[in-house]
Amino acid sequence: MRINSILFNMFSFVRKTLPDDIYYSRLFIPLRIMYGETAKNKKRAYLRFDVHIANHCNMNCKSCEHFSPLAPKSFIDIKKYENDCSCIAGLINGGGGVDEISLLGGEPLLLNPQLLIDVIKISRSHFPDTAINITTNGLLLNNQTEEFWNCCRTNNINIIVSVYPANIDHYLLMDTAKKHDVQFQFRGNVKLVSKNWKELPIEFMSESWKLFPIDVEGRQNPKKSNALCYASNFSFQLVEGKLYKCWRVAYAKYFNSYFNKQLEVTEDDYIDIYKAASIDEILEKLRKPAPFCRYCKMDGGKAVKWGKSKREISEWVAD
Ligand code: SF4
Repeated sequence: MRINSILFNMFSFVRKTLPDDIYYSRLFIPLRIMYGETAKNKKRAYLRFDVHIANHCNMNCKSCEHFSPLAPKSFIDIKKYENDCSCIAGLINGGGGVDEISLLGGEPLLLNPQLLIDVIKISRSHFPDTAINITTNGLLLNNQTEEFWNCCRTNNINIIVSVYPANIDHYLLMDTAKKHDVQFQFRGNVKLVSKNWKELPIEFMSESWKLFPIDVEGRQNPKKSNALCYASNFSFQLVEGKLYKCWRVAYAKYFNSYFNKQLEVTEDDYIDIYKAASIDEILEKLRKPAPFCRYCKMDGGKAVKWGKSKREISEWVAD
């Protein structure tokens, strides 16, 4: 166990030190597998999960990892969400806890304003000590009501804005949150150098984002894909009573339906929260490779320049 910890710290240091271009090159695949395996062997102490409040989006990014350009206009079922929160909160007594909930999508601010407030209140009432954030593209943030901002402040919600090359005044978003005394941050390691994205170099997005394509034939080694995957053991998705290993499994239905494909999701790719005995059981199941990982070509990452989706399958699959 001690050796595992030393290896994990060593790989973490290398990961933080190397630029993405080098770290994701073929040369470093063996190291990434070793790092992935040590990271996956470290079961998480706490559960974190994402919740799609809206499945569709108003940004329509090419190669969207959540398949939002392919999703029909659809929103969270608030009654089911409340039951799910109650179920997960009940499991905390069995050990472990929930350290983060991300309310996102799609674009979460597309939800009806009153329902959005209800989602925030439900989340906070069941998880009083959990970090809760809303991750948004920011397009609708400045249209929000005083009630929304008051609700975010009183419920200690962190607003996270993912920066895209849209015509948004990101400084204004920051100022609005500050004025309402609401926590605010940009997602990732973003340094804004101008008021308007249009003045920023487009290369920014390709530097900050790699696509790991889908192998629709499912010929990849799931263990290897899981070890190389940055989403594994982290990006759990709560959808109507089930916690999925990641967004790709949870929303494969949109990819399948739009392109008439059959990426198969089985009971081994998620856990039914109503059948779980504890948070610990959930964490143990979700850290392991899932059968669905065979669809992910994790050693074939390519830089993607941001653009609007044309809803073509080539945006998601291997060349
Ligand atoms: S299915 Fe497995 S390898 Fe693919 S993105 Fe999800 S966790 Fe990663």
